[in-house]
Amino acid sequence: MKLVEVKLITRHVFFILLAATARAQVNPEMCRYPLGMTGGQIQDEDISASSQWSESTAARFGRLEFDNGDGDGAWCPDIMSEPDGLKEYLQVDLRSLHFITLVGTQGRHADGMGNEFAQRYMIKYSRDGSNWVGWHDRKGRQVIEGNRNAYDVVLKDLEPPIIARFVRFMPVTDHSMIVCMRVELYGCEWLDGLMSYSIPDGHQMIYRGLDVYFNDSVYDRASAERLTKGLGQLTDGTWGLDDFLHSHIYGMWPGYDYVGWSNKSFPKGYVEMIFEFDHVRNFTSMKVHCNNMFSRGVRMFRQATCYFRSGSEWEADPVTFRPTVDRMSQTARFVTVPLGDRTASAIKCRFHFSDLWMLFSEVAFQSGSAVYNTSLTPRKPGHPTNTLPGDDPTHKVDDSNTRILIGCLVAIIAILLTIIVIILWRQVWQKMLEKASRRLLDDELTARLAVQTQAFSFHHSSLSSEGGSTSNSTYERIFPLCADYQEPSRLIRKLPEFAQSTEHLGPSTSCKGVTAGGSDSAPHYAEADIISLQESSDSSTYSITAVNMNLFAGTDSSMKEFPRHKLTFKEKLGEGQFGEVHLCEAEGMQDFLDEDLSIEGNNESPLLVAVKTLREDANKNARNDFLKEIRIMSRLRDPNIVRLLAVCVDSDPLCMITEYMENGDLNQFLCNLRLKEAADEDKTEQEENEGKSMVSYSKLIGMAVQIASGMKYLSSLNFVHRDLATRNCLVGKNYTIKIADFGMSRNLYRGDYYRIQGRAVLPIRWMSWESILLGKFTMASDVWAFGVTLWEILTLCKEQPYSQLSDEQVIENTGEFFRDQGKQVYLPKPACCPERVYANLMLSCWRRNAKQRPSFQEMHAQLMESLA
Ligand code: AMP
Repeated sequence: MKLVEVKLITRHVFFILLAATARAQVNPEMCRYPLGMTGGQIQDEDISASSQWSESTAARFGRLEFDNGDGDGAWCPDIMSEPDGLKEYLQVDLRSLHFITLVGTQGRHADGMGNEFAQRYMIKYSRDGSNWVGWHDRKGRQVIEGNRNAYDVVLKDLEPPIIARFVRFMPVTDHSMIVCMRVELYGCEWLDGLMSYSIPDGHQMIYRGLDVYFNDSVYDRASAERLTKGLGQLTDGTWGLDDFLHSHIYGMWPGYDYVGWSNKSFPKGYVEMIFEFDHVRNFTSMKVHCNNMFSRGVRMFRQATCYFRSGSEWEADPVTFRPTVDRMSQTARFVTVPLGDRTASAIKCRFHFSDLWMLFSEVAFQSGSAVYNTSLTPRKPGHPTNTLPGDDPTHKVDDSNTRILIGCLVAIIAILLTIIVIILWRQVWQKMLEKASRRLLDDELTARLAVQTQAFSFHHSSLSSEGGSTSNSTYERIFPLCADYQEPSRLIRKLPEFAQSTEHLGPSTSCKGVTAGGSDSAPHYAEADIISLQESSDSSTYSITAVNMNLFAGTDSSMKEFPRHKLTFKEKLGEGQFGEVHLCEAEGMQDFLDEDLSIEGNNESPLLVAVKTLREDANKNARNDFLKEIRIMSRLRDPNIVRLLAVCVDSDPLCMITEYMENGDLNQFLCNLRLKEAADEDKTEQEENEGKSMVSYSKLIGMAVQIASGMKYLSSLNFVHRDLATRNCLVGKNYTIKIADFGMSRNLYRGDYYRIQGRAVLPIRWMSWESILLGKFTMASDVWAFGVTLWEILTLCKEQPYSQLSDEQVIENTGEFFRDQGKQVYLPKPACCPERVYANLMLSCWRRNAKQRPSFQEMHAQLMESLA
């Protein structure tokens, strides 16, 4: 079996297991799926409202980011809401209980025609459709800050989360504003089926003079001594810490995470809790999260006795469970109480004290599938049926189902174990190979180091002493994914379902083998290096390891120091963020170059060269980036890659001398040209010369061929450029194109980059979805950028890609590529581009699955073919 297949199976098995465990405990961080307003899974008839302004602003139009054409773009109530927000509402029926962790709202813009939105709103919810509860946050605030404009989606984490079937959004206004809303709910189905629990409210402990409150502070029904008919802290998905004085949630009082009772107040020695469910279920177990800090008089329960009820009477034979007493560990833990596959719609458990206090933070139930005799309401597509209490409880449990389920689980576990063994074995093997190749590389570098010129040796030591950083640590920043490239993935939080799917992407796994050094300036995202790629089928993990090389060891020995005084300044060619590019005459450069470096067809002396200098006041990172660019360029030899001829690094300012490309960068070059139409073909030579600002389609494709060829060369070295765009290609004589810019950003095209809170600067319009969302740069993401570059070429750089979208909208669009629900926007076909080039080439670069994108080799061949 291939590793790819193994990983896929693992992932599926993982999700199956995840789904199985989700039946017992909900993890609010994972449970963030859009529940169907946007995607259309929630049917129109399940969206209702107190009133509507007109038919075209009816409730069914209140779907976030959704335009079904016949509406006015949102739900708008008839009369303006009362200040207390209790009159008007948009109601969503989810058809079954859901655990809701997040809500999103948006206003009405109707493509510029509307400007109505709700600045503030409140939420009410219900589990049975008749008892409604007003949501409030953990500090008791009910009003939620909503939208500031008609366009942007504003997401609000519900803390605490809601367990409900019906949810109402109620705009709060001051009468001066018409409000309209579009909404989405995020969460997952509440498979526990628990509708309410009834418990005595928690007590107050005085611990060393400190007031510790163990009340159920988020219980969602009016509470007296005994809390009834509601849900609260025991089902909020938050588990208490070992030390009950501290809380997961910032700013909360001691004891906040737990509901707790003092033994003294219960003469019978136990606390009785009653759990009511949505319908009759077949219960396997109950999990109770208990504190066990016995040094402070808190211990998990000694015994649990549970009674079951399917109809109106409690059954006589309870299930009793005595957990092993733990006198060693004070860690809080889940205690699993087996419930013996009993069927019930309500469970009453008595938890017996074993110390002065008993503290619970979560209770969850695992119930197996049961087949009921009752006539179930027919299932609607996408909406599981929900039988509410009071429905006919007669039922029959199909034991064979349980057996099949157990059998399947055992089989899955066996497969999983086999897979893990195979993966581990492969990884060990891969590590051995990697080590061996690294050793080879080290040997090579050591050999090169031995033949460094004195100049480099001197510079090395001076650099090392500067700022006290070693060259190694400097170049650990080559792959700045950890510290700075996490930023793009923060944007994922705008895309809720993505946030959950990357939960398991911890920084340690996502940046395997990569260390990010400190950075005091915005690092350029386009830093590139020669990297080794471990093919990964799992798009959610990085598997790129940078070959961490010493700068000077890595610099090719043929890269000589050019005598600075032999450079004569002619004119300024351009400006970058960290320095300038000048056209210079280089006296004696031809003699100076090695034979293989002499520039074809240019024997003039002095030779015209482009000299890129680093500003003298550039900071250490910019300096390192500059030196890194030298190191990279010194290794590249290809007719379509701009060539580094020599360097001046002995003293400041640092300079790199590259071949001069007469026509500057491709973006500006094309921008000044006009497409030669068929009508222009008949022009005389003189007219042709006058019209030299024209370019034919085949010339444009010729340029793309050269870029594809340069990229083919880079990909043969496993080199990821990360910033392919017309602005980073240079144009020489006769439409010769060479790829440049291996590490510096420029001022001129600042608008092409997207800066996130002063951190990494990203050319998001050229970046693949996985580069933006996962920080993953591969050959396939270069292919994506090539598609955009081809689009720029064929539109003659007359506009920026996705010019009609703001940066934020581009990122939203990236989310659509990830979601792949057919809502992603592609760059349109350029007017001169034949349909087959657009469909077979350009669009294939933007395939969601990176593996399905073509290689540069294939694209080069395809473009050559289209030229023929
Ligand atoms: P840079 O930021 O270093 O990539 O360059 C800034 C600008 O300088 C580019 O947009 C080009 O217009 C110009 N430039 C850079 N390198 C060359 C070169 N080798 N030949 C001609 N122009 C160049």
